[in-house]
Amino acid sequence: MPVFSARDFADHEQVVFASDEKSGLKAIIAVHNSNLGPALGGCRMWPYASEDDAVRDVLRLSRGMTYKSAMANLKLGGGKSVVIGNPRTDKTPQLLAALARAIEQLNGRYIAAEDSGTSVADMQFMAQYTRHVAGFVDQPAGAATRSGDPSPATAYGTFVGIRAAVRERLGRDTLEGLKVAVQGVGNVGFELARRLKAAGAELWVTDLHREPLVRAAKELGVTAVAPDAIFGLDVDVFAPCALGAVINDETVPQLKAKIVAGAANNQLAEARHGMELMRRGILYAPDYIINAGGIIDIYHERIGYERAAAMRHIEGIHDNLLEVFARARKEERPTGEVADVIAEERFKG
Ligand code: NAD
Repeated sequence: MPVFSARDFADHEQVVFASDEKSGLKAIIAVHNSNLGPALGGCRMWPYASEDDAVRDVLRLSRGMTYKSAMANLKLGGGKSVVIGNPRTDKTPQLLAALARAIEQLNGRYIAAEDSGTSVADMQFMAQYTRHVAGFVDQPAGAATRSGDPSPATAYGTFVGIRAAVRERLGRDTLEGLKVAVQGVGNVGFELARRLKAAGAELWVTDLHREPLVRAAKELGVTAVAPDAIFGLDVDVFAPCALGAVINDETVPQLKAKIVAGAANNQLAEARHGMELMRRGILYAPDYIINAGGIIDIYHERIGYERAAAMRHIEGIHDNLLEVFARARKEERPTGEVADVIAEERFKG
């Protein structure tokens, strides 16, 4: 597959193909842009149907990380790595070591973190072979101030972001009595639901799996609904916290919410769905801004973790969103489009 003329190629600075015969490693590491700092991004392991799919994914995801970090005011660029293989059967210590050595050769231009198919423990293991991994706690026993799991930080950022969206769309500063539908009560969704509940919101939640749903209903006293029923609820906010592409041709006409604001990545099936939300008067909080709490947390881990500073930085998501909303309103453009423009202004300088 040609890289320079690929649809997802966007002036990426560097795309490295790494292989290791002994361990069977086949990986691609992409540094999209490093104007603001080293390119940090997850390491995804997936049994890609073709090499083309892997190239497309690494180009698209690394570019997304540049926008996300720029928007979150981090001194980081955007990168990503993908490993072609099944994480359940192909992920051996030898393969992770070979991957880490390939990352080390980039001399810090790319910093890896966990992603689908890799774990915090994998990153910790790889740290034996490269200095350039993040997203785990590497502190003496007793000194750790955080778990290494970015989900609570992501949930906090999403909560702060919902506050901003409510202020913009509903003109309210309190979440008391706000009706929210949360799709997916996994690591992020559950913690978000807990925070919303504590702030006085009324909640409906769903999940594909029974166990997290029962837990949420029991521990938080929220109403559980079937997965298909979550879109059409008469609520103020729809918070996608499960999977991508949930805002699509099928779901948009069902939405009664005035705000879509949640942690899931790539919520819009296509950019035109952002336009469709705007047309219907539904305010969309761009996913990569509202779900940046986790990467902000990881960044603070790298510069010397201080909880108060990390929290303040995450709270900046509120003003970032207000800036995007205000400009979108003024220019009568979808919020996602405006977010991209602002991010580009930040990393292109
Ligand atoms: P998770 O796997 O812990 O939780 C996702 C939950 O959604 C699971 O309980 C799953 O059963 C449920 N689910 C899946 N499909 C569903 C469907 N169709 N309907 C209802 N429920 C469904 O994942 P997470 O870490 O909580 O992340 C949630 C989302 O947020 C993902 O899109 C992730 O990419 C994004 N995100 C997470 C973080 C983080 O720090 N964890 C950071 C940024 C973005």
